[in-house]
Amino acid sequence: MESSRTFSRRRRPLIVGNWKMNGLIESAVDMGEALRQGFDERNTSCEVVVCPPFTALHALHQQLGESSVKLGAQNVFCEEFGPYTGEICGIMLRNVGCRYVILGHSERRTLFGENHSLIVRKTMSSFRDGLQPIVCIGESLEQREKGETLVVLQEQLLPVLKALADQRERWVQLVVAYEPVWAIGTGKVASTDQIQEVHYYLRGLLKEHFDEDASQRVRILYGGSVKPDNAAAIFALPDVDGGLIGSASLQSKEFLAIIDALPAVD
Ligand code: PEP
Repeated sequence: MESSRTFSRRRRPLIVGNWKMNGLIESAVDMGEALRQGFDERNTSCEVVVCPPFTALHALHQQLGESSVKLGAQNVFCEEFGPYTGEICGIMLRNVGCRYVILGHSERRTLFGENHSLIVRKTMSSFRDGLQPIVCIGESLEQREKGETLVVLQEQLLPVLKALADQRERWVQLVVAYEPVWAIGTGKVASTDQIQEVHYYLRGLLKEHFDEDASQRVRILYGGSVKPDNAAAIFALPDVDGGLIGSASLQSKEFLAIIDALPAVD
């Protein structure tokens, strides 16, 4: 679908691929090469980030080289170094080329018990360590059916906004990803009305807790079963600034087709 929307220069479109726990080094490098070539040929002004498993970060960093495809991690721990068996800190992620980190993904919240306060600590430590946090929020199907969507999203996002209240220089670096839990990996995408309603509401929260300028500059991504055939309609929405892509980011052809669905930047 062709989109008539052009992106405002104030928010550079962003597409993030979350590979989750998929891929070995060899396949990650192959995928990185396909994306590097595909993205660099396109000459688009959007920003593209791939978030492979930790084990593939170093190899992918070497392989992406000077490409404009950036690297992100799927999680981080909030301490700097020390006795935290099994954890990885932000400085280590920077060391293997990461620029972004996904925080508070619903799988981390539900399967690994991450709560609001841990996500706030991780957001603050990511900034401290020079990583841009992509903070995921989203309601469950039950919460949506009970009409609680906006309240739940507010409960998830406000602690982060409050923690950043006196850190004005960081406001516009924050990326928010709205990911309805019922749409993640299910093939059930939220309707464009549902998505725009939420994104508009979130931008309002940003305005209330940051200011008008920051609210117009923070990027709000949609995630949840985005595919090449539905991406253009979602990205055409005025408060959607790109996508967080799960399963479709595992195939370079699909991922590149999603990038192609972004409206032009004016
Ligand atoms: C995700 O896990 O962040 C996600 C959006 O997954 P999918 O695109 O597969 O729904």
